[in-house]
Amino acid sequence: MPDTPPVFRFAPSPNGLLHLGHALSALLNHDMAKAANGRFLLRIEDIDQTRCRPEFEAAIFEDLAWLGLNWERPVRRQSEHLDAYASALHRLGELGVVYPSVMTRGEIKAAVTDAEAGGKAWPRDPDGSPLYPGRERELRQSERAALIASGKAYAWRLDMAKALALLGGGPLSWRESGAGPAGETGAITADPAAWGDIILSRSDAPSSYHLSVVVDDALQGITHVVRGRDLYHATAVHRLLQQLLGLPEPLYHHHRLVLGPDGRKLSKSNQDTGIAAFRAAGRAPEEVLEHVAQECLAGLR
Ligand code: GLU
Repeated sequence: MPDTPPVFRFAPSPNGLLHLGHALSALLNHDMAKAANGRFLLRIEDIDQTRCRPEFEAAIFEDLAWLGLNWERPVRRQSEHLDAYASALHRLGELGVVYPSVMTRGEIKAAVTDAEAGGKAWPRDPDGSPLYPGRERELRQSERAALIASGKAYAWRLDMAKALALLGGGPLSWRESGAGPAGETGAITADPAAWGDIILSRSDAPSSYHLSVVVDDALQGITHVVRGRDLYHATAVHRLLQQLLGLPEPLYHHHRLVLGPDGRKLSKSNQDTGIAAFRAAGRAPEEVLEHVAQECLAGLR
């Protein structure tokens, strides 16, 4: 069988302007693909139509071209493939590991405050959000149908305990060639339970980030996922969904985050550290490349 080349991807969301952290991610993917005689894809993660805008997508293309990157066309745009995520959700439904949930953010907060009034801390996920109380988990089939028919906004959630039980409770892992926040590398044990009953789709967003990313990585034949360390813990959820859906396991490489002068993670709303701001200030792409190269070297120390 002929060797198939490795496939890398940079997968930004067009909900703001790219910053130096995105430049680092894009360049790493591009250069690692080149070094491995592999392919470099760009994927537009625009599932959340309430926050994504066409002008930010245009800015992504412009910024990456200005940095001197080449990517394969056509570019996959998630909003054009909702049927693929719907059928993955349907499959999870057939496996019996999803349920409709109706608690709003405010209701979750109130339930958690209530529970914590007893003196016991409510569990939080790796991003610091309280785990979903999951009251609807126990509803009977007819009660679920009634809830859906009631017209109330609901989200499909993964029943984490059922999903883990379905996989037999064996350990789930991934191969990490970068590093996690505490320097974790090599064979990593995944702990999806730390995320609780994650959202898979909502009435205003037909697929969640977690679901669409695993479906797309598989459909596009991604062999190497290279991205920022802020998504390190999310990998546990991705590995779980891959196992449930029978999707292949890519290799993972989480790189350090580029921090701002204040030592904090960059955000898309901070215009100063945007690639477009460098360009508008008449600075050369080499300056951005130099800056992120220093970041990479610092990451190796
Ligand atoms: N779309 C995600 C973001 O903008 C990245 C997804 C990924 O690389 O897995 O942060």
